[in-house]
Amino acid sequence: MTVAVRKAKAKKVSPLQPDLLAQWDKEWIWHPFTQMSEWTKDDILIIKSGKGSYLQDVQGRTYLDGVSSLWCNVHGHHIPELDRAVKRQLSSIAHSTFLGLSNIPAIELAKKLIEIVPRGLKRVFYSDSGSESVEIALKMAYQYWQHKGEKGRTKFIRLANAYHGDTIGSVSVGGIDLFHEVYRPLLFETFQAPAPYRYRDSFEGSEEEYADFCAKRLEEVIRKHHSETCALIIEPLMQGAAGMINQPRGYISRARSLAKEYNIFLIFDEVATGFGRTGRMFASAHEAVTPDILCVAKGLSAGYLPLAATITTEEVYEAFLGRYEELKTFFHGHTYTANPLACAVSIANLEFFEKKKVLERLAPKIDFLTNGLKSFWNLEHVGDIRQVGFMVGIELVRNKATKEPYELKEKIGIRVIQEARRKGVIIRPLGNVIVLMPPLAIEAKDLKKLTDVVYQSIKKVTEKN
Ligand SMILES: *Cc1c(COP(=O)(O)O)cnc(C)c1O
Repeated sequence: MTVAVRKAKAKKVSPLQPDLLAQWDKEWIWHPFTQMSEWTKDDILIIKSGKGSYLQDVQGRTYLDGVSSLWCNVHGHHIPELDRAVKRQLSSIAHSTFLGLSNIPAIELAKKLIEIVPRGLKRVFYSDSGSESVEIALKMAYQYWQHKGEKGRTKFIRLANAYHGDTIGSVSVGGIDLFHEVYRPLLFETFQAPAPYRYRDSFEGSEEEYADFCAKRLEEVIRKHHSETCALIIEPLMQGAAGMINQPRGYISRARSLAKEYNIFLIFDEVATGFGRTGRMFASAHEAVTPDILCVAKGLSAGYLPLAATITTEEVYEAFLGRYEELKTFFHGHTYTANPLACAVSIANLEFFEKKKVLERLAPKIDFLTNGLKSFWNLEHVGDIRQVGFMVGIELVRNKATKEPYELKEKIGIRVIQEARRKGVIIRPLGNVIVLMPPLAIEAKDLKKLTDVVYQSIKKVTEKN
């Protein structure tokens, strides 16, 4: 096919003019986490295609995807091996129910997952999004204790600033007031434990001492409430949506021992940290910790299709076994649970990790990124830089000496990402924190482009006066 023919064909698929598409979007669509009064006034970016680490919009402009299409893309866009897996499955069947039936890709994927998740996890419960995977973990933990006759265990312990998704249950274990305060009357009660946040704690001392300090704060809450608690839920190593806030080495191991000591479950939400993002397949692997329940989503399908899983131990699973009329069944399931297309591409994702030695090749890129971030410390308004593998948060502050934050209305993060977009890089902030989370497949030259553009954008927006 010549380039001209290919172009004409592509045109046929989407004959709509960019301005008409924008008009229809603004007329008919309500976007997530978006103040629509601003959206409808702004120029909007409509994506048409992607290749590797780049996205192309309907105007034909290309952008580097600096946040992996919101933290889910892994190997890049439009990857032949992954595309083929979807097409191959499509030639058999797109979907059949998982309630009362099984399907081939879901079985194969479960087996593969059990091989790579922390040792001791044995059962895979599928769903469609990270929020659901958390919702399921909460219900599972709660129902386990009900079956064990511990009816008073109805609460959860969570960390300050936690983010575990947007459904009512997952928001209940969340702690980001900015997003969640309005829903407070709808949420169930939880116990909040202070979360590690070394920059804001202004802790003087070694990493080990800080881990000790944080573990003690966590233990206080657990000691007080463990008898009415089902589980402690944590995002291991890095609280993502909280503003990319990392935990000191040793913290997740301490959380593991505390949960065991006080006989509550430990739930790890690895929706963001899973599938290589921290440099290992799972964040838990850095300290060889096995939670009782593990939640995964985002990178599970390499960013191709909605798929999530809640993975647990035989101990949890067996508490749900009984005679039909005992009603010990786990009453949860969604129409698209274990969708075969999504499972098929997830299998291909895991094969790709192995075949292309993705994690081995990631290690030098992580160092490259670390080096690229060093110069950011010199910027006048960069207060803190936090990195775990390919997850980076750059916290901007109005005053570096006092750590005074920018006010919400200054929209400092948004202004920085708008500047980056003008320079061809797509990123998304979390309040005053600039997030970098490129696809694992990003090439060194694009990694350099990412840090260069973000550096210039921060400088231009924060130092212009
Ligand atoms: C994104 C995210 C979720 C929610 O996942 P969705 O697929 O958006 O519902 C939950 N937990 C963490 C840690 C996340 O980063």
